[in-house]
Amino acid sequence: MRSDPNCIFCKIIEKKIPSKIVYEDESVAAFEDANPQAPVHLLIVPKKHFPDIHSMNDADRELIGHLFLTAKKIADDKGLDGKGYRLVINNGAGAGQTVFHLHLHILSGRRFIWPPG
Ligand code: AMP
Ligand code: ZN
Repeated sequence: MRSDPNCIFCKIIEKKIPSKIVYEDESVAAFEDANPQAPVHLLIVPKKHFPDIHSMNDADRELIGHLFLTAKKIADDKGLDGKGYRLVINNGAGAGQTVFHLHLHILSGRRFIWPPG
């Protein structure tokens, strides 16, 4: 499915609801989390609708790589590399996923504990 009309992140990508987009290109977008858990909390999403990791397959290798390289680019642009940052994917409701459009959290600007909560 390219887009899901009931998906809040698809609506953000299609600019049907407001958000603070910090980066986008033909295949990915990044925007500020509406309920930030750190001074920097961004979400990076593929523009194509994938509910979770298990909806992706071999044909999506390039897109998966592009998601990670976009995280790196945003971290560089925001000067996060020296500070450290956390990349998180909550995959599945049991792991805390609440929006079923695959997304990478990028969090920075405070200390993070391990193991995570
Ligand atoms: P997860 O729990 O990993 O599925 O993460 C979903 C994230 O989406 C949460 O951190 C929410 O705060 C965030 N979120 C939900 N709705 C919106 C929205 N309309 N704009 C920006 N972020 C959102
Ligand atoms: Zn979606």
